[in-house]
Amino acid sequence: MARRIAVVGSNMTDLVTSIIRMPAPGETLEAPAFSMGFGGKGANQAVAAARLGADVMMVTKVGDDVFGQSTIDNLKSNGIDVSHVGTITGKSSGVAPIFVDESGENSIFIIKGANNDLKPADIDAAAEDLKRCDLILMQLEVPLETVYYTIAFADRHGIETILNPAPAAPDLDPKQVTKATFVVPNETELALLTGMPTGTDAEIETAARSLIDKGIRTVIVTLGSRGARLITADTSTLIEPFKVKPKDTTGAGDAFIGSFARYYVEGRELEASLRKAALYAADSITREGTQKSYATAEEFNQFLQ
Ligand code: ADP
Repeated sequence: MARRIAVVGSNMTDLVTSIIRMPAPGETLEAPAFSMGFGGKGANQAVAAARLGADVMMVTKVGDDVFGQSTIDNLKSNGIDVSHVGTITGKSSGVAPIFVDESGENSIFIIKGANNDLKPADIDAAAEDLKRCDLILMQLEVPLETVYYTIAFADRHGIETILNPAPAAPDLDPKQVTKATFVVPNETELALLTGMPTGTDAEIETAARSLIDKGIRTVIVTLGSRGARLITADTSTLIEPFKVKPKDTTGAGDAFIGSFARYYVEGRELEASLRKAALYAADSITREGTQKSYATAEEFNQFLQ
């Protein structure tokens, strides 16, 4: 039977407006272009894993608006099990109005909407199906209490977990996440999580080790164009980056984590899975967009040749 991955996390719809400049208060301006894209760290990671052929179930919440319905349709069209996608009446779905000016500078609002309604009770409601999963992925765009609850649930049932502590959450309590199998921050999130500097490789290593000292077993720090570093109590391994010409790096972290989950769950080969994830993320940044840039298994095989 295929290994099963659950993502307990967020979904968002990106509402991208190209602008000449931000309007002043009270001013109305015409903007040249608008487009929509599916996003949210949870949904992005779910889509990356599913496009690579994983059996993925998503536990998330949408509002009763058009964005909620199109989010569900998008998950389904990527082959993701949506039986635990709940709809909250009277709430908006998660949306991210993004304004991109001519120099490429982004100004972003995040309205989490129904994502704030993903509660521990939803984990209880999905418990029987979650117990059948081999790996659970989480990020921090849903309430922290739900993340803590899911980690404890998975630990009780012997299910491995990946926690991507993103976006950086100042009030995350590292002690509540020590039972996660893998904690995967980028440099900024690692700094916030530890209160330590992460400007140099030595500082990154020290900061990651401080998490290991708190009881976290495995830390994987993503380092953008410098690859990633895998740190356990007695090892520190660089996962080399794959050299590409980047076009759009948004969503690289989600591509990395979703694909890592997909490969890890098959054979539990940690380093080999991380190396494939670095390749998958590198491939994704050669194309525009977030989910749009994630390759299918077939496309990724072509990239590998
Ligand atoms: P985030 O988007 O969460 O900040 P990173 O920027 O660290 O995450 O990217 C995640 C992974 O994607 C990296 O560990 C690396 O393997 C790959 N990656 C990101 N940017 C590049 C790049 N410019 N060249 C090659 N690989 C990259």
